[in-house]
Amino acid sequence: MGRRRRKRLYKPVKRRIPRIFSCPRCGARTVVVSVTRGKTEATVTCGDCELAWTTDRKSYEEKVDVYSRFVDAVLQGEVS
Ligand SMILES: [Zn+2]
Repeated sequence: MGRRRRKRLYKPVKRRIPRIFSCPRCGARTVVVSVTRGKTEATVTCGDCELAWTTDRKSYEEKVDVYSRFVDAVLQGEVS
């Protein structure tokens, strides 16, 4: 008798927002967004070219939102 114990291993698909982003300046995937807890400030830093940017963080903003503003700022030449 075949005991069929098929365990279904559901791997929950976690659609997680990436925590490491690409750098708009050097292209390396070494950009980390860190949010100061309690404080409404976010810092974006690239571990490769050491580009750093600090900005006000709105309470509704996720890290990816801060990152997209960072990309805009870099593209507009606001970050040096
Ligand atoms: Zn970089």
